[in-house]
Formats: sequence, structure tokens, C-alpha cells
Amino acid sequence: MTQAMTLALIAHDGKKADMVLLASEFADFLRGCRLMATGTTGGRLKQALALDVECLLSGPQGGDLQIGARLAVGEVDGVIFLRDPMTPQPHEPDINALVRACDVHNVPCATNMAGARLMLSSWAAA
Ligand code: PGA
Repeated sequence: MTQAMTLALIAHDGKKADMVLLASEFADFLRGCRLMATGTTGGRLKQALALDVECLLSGPQGGDLQIGARLAVGEVDGVIFLRDPMTPQPHEPDINALVRACDVHNVPCATNMAGARLMLSSWAAA
């Protein structure tokens, strides 16, 4: 791959530990990507793994919408969005908007660990 991929990383509170685990598994690959994340998720990744992550607004403050806006103009190559299906989220409309934007623009989006591992291992091997 000649140009670094741009990935967006988002994890609900109940899934943040999983995101850190996932990022640690793929840290070598992720260090070669441009990374953006919602605020708290990005902060956790910086703190735990010293990844170079652009932190946007926190999800409930509009971070998912910021990622969706960038994705809609072709600035995001993939999304890892570890959603917590067991906990209601105050910003559910924003979450749906981001996942919809992925579908509208045909951008790969993994919403659980199994899908995320498949996506990242495929890209890491490319
Ligand atoms: P956060 O946002 O990383 O700022 O917690 C994630 C979300 O809840 O969408």
C-alpha cells in the first residue's frame, strides 16, 4: 500500500477496553495509518498505547457526526465502531447517521471485535 490509510476509531464506554486491546493487537499496522477518534476513545488510545490519534469531539457532543462529515467527503477509508448493544446511548441518532454514511459511501465499518479483527488483519496483510 503506497498511501497511508485513514481510519476512524470509536468505542462506547462499555467497549473502550476492547478497543485498547484491539489497537494493541494491531499497533504496528495502526502506527502506519492516519487515525482519528472520538474524544474519549482517542484519549484512551493515546494514554494506553501512545498512538498518534487526532481526537475529535466526544461522541455525545458530536464526534460521530464529525467523523461522518469527513467520511462523506472521502476523507475516511474505514471505521471501527465498537458499539455497546446493551446500553442505550443519548446520541443514538448520531450513531445511526455515521453507520448510514458508511453504507451510503461504501466505506468498510466494523461494529464488533470479530469484524474489526477481520478488517484490520486483511489490511495489515495487504
Ligand atoms: P467517546 O465517544 O469516545 O468520546 O466516548 C464515543 C461514543 O460514545 O460515540
